[in-house]
Amino acid sequence: MKLILVGPPGSGKGTMSRLLRERYKITSFAVGDVLRAEIKKGSELGKLAASYIDKGNFVPNEVSGGIVKNKLRELGDNYVLDGYPRNIPQAETLKEIMKDLNTGINIVFHLDIEDEALKERLKGRIVCPKCGFTYHTVNLKPKKEGLCDHCDVPLERRKDDDFIDTRLEIYYRETAPLIHYYKDKIVTIYSNCSIEEQFASISDALKKKGLL
Ligand SMILES: [Zn+2]
Repeated sequence: MKLILVGPPGSGKGTMSRLLRERYKITSFAVGDVLRAEIKKGSELGKLAASYIDKGNFVPNEVSGGIVKNKLRELGDNYVLDGYPRNIPQAETLKEIMKDLNTGINIVFHLDIEDEALKERLKGRIVCPKCGFTYHTVNLKPKKEGLCDHCDVPLERRKDDDFIDTRLEIYYRETAPLIHYYKDKIVTIYSNCSIEEQFASISDALKKKGLL
């Protein structure tokens, strides 16, 4: 199955794709993670991407489209795209890529949550710089304070989490129109709830469509 997760920053896209991977062996792919890895390496692509991401902006379509095309070729038949496409032009690019690969999307999950709840969540969000696992100072604490359970390295705030107002504004302007664009494939998941409740709604939808 091929899935897309659409939702504002902090709506749980990363956590939901991790659970899809761990429990149903669905490969997840976040363009943002690839870009962050390139930034860390200090590559040309990374430097270019950082100039956009650090300010809470999206990287240009040609950059992300190239990454996605290469990656989708590698991935098998089951994957979830986390945070891509982010706007209509990217969705058009994805449509072309999928046409080339002779495949299509089954479900687009819209993770729906109120702005105020999001802001609360993002305030406490901390991530592992090594493995990318996301924790929360209240909702999903690491076993040892401030340290990743898996890598034992200090957790960090994501730089772009300081630009939440800008990111929300961009989300509503650029990304939210995808909900209409994908209206035939959209399943809305109410996301101001626990991680397990949120994941249960996703699992139910997959079962209903005969995908599990
Ligand atoms: Zn880690």
